[in-house]
Amino acid sequence: SDHSLDYPASPELIDWATFFPDGNPPDWADIGCGFGGLLVELAPRFPDKHILGLEIRVQVTQYVTDRIAALRVAHSGQSDAHYNNISVIRANAMKFLPNFFKKHSLSALFFLFPDPHFKSRKHKARIISPTLLAEYAYVLRPGGIVYTITDVKDLHDWMRIHLTNFPLFEPVDEGALRSEGHGSVIDAVYTSTEEGKKVERNKGDKWLACFRRIEDPSR
Ligand code: SAM
Repeated sequence: SDHSLDYPASPELIDWATFFPDGNPPDWADIGCGFGGLLVELAPRFPDKHILGLEIRVQVTQYVTDRIAALRVAHSGQSDAHYNNISVIRANAMKFLPNFFKKHSLSALFFLFPDPHFKSRKHKARIISPTLLAEYAYVLRPGGIVYTITDVKDLHDWMRIHLTNFPLFEPVDEGALRSEGHGSVIDAVYTSTEEGKKVERNKGDKWLACFRRIEDPSR
């Protein structure tokens, strides 16, 4: 339950120095980051990107906070991998996302192995839904990328259909993204997270679907 969660009234009120030592706001967000595998993998590869994980579970958020703090200490004084560019916040990403991120401020959103909510009556609990897509489109800048991956084919179809049908997103295939230089991000999406590794151990399938945030159509 998230009854005890506080939400910022607006992104202007967030002091990003609490999260990133240089005080800059995030460029990328990992929605439901779990134990933080993606953050840790991307941090040294993209030192100029500030990446924020959002996680609803208290203990899991604390684990990621401690994990990042330990990495910062272990790598202090190193210029290549400092881990000052990743952080985590406890938040329900399905509520008030525009209170955290300014309009068009993000260039990537990650949804890696989101909870499937199998039963039909639970589909409204899915993290990809028409209402939430409007918020994701709001915080993403045109040209920004949504990465989704899951081992649940039904959830993959659900995310793909909803994102494809939403007017502000267009599907972009893996090959195109790799040729644009996003290959190492895609590799991390497949393999870096704790859930992704579990799927590998169980020899499960992984279904990737990516989307580009298009320009707002002129009215
Ligand atoms: N992305 C991670 C990975 O690939 O290992 C975690 C995947 S896990 C199956 C889904 C995560 O999303 C859980 O850690 C869960 O607590 C988190 N989560 C579920 N609903 C959320 C919400 N509304 N806001 C933030 N996090 C959420």
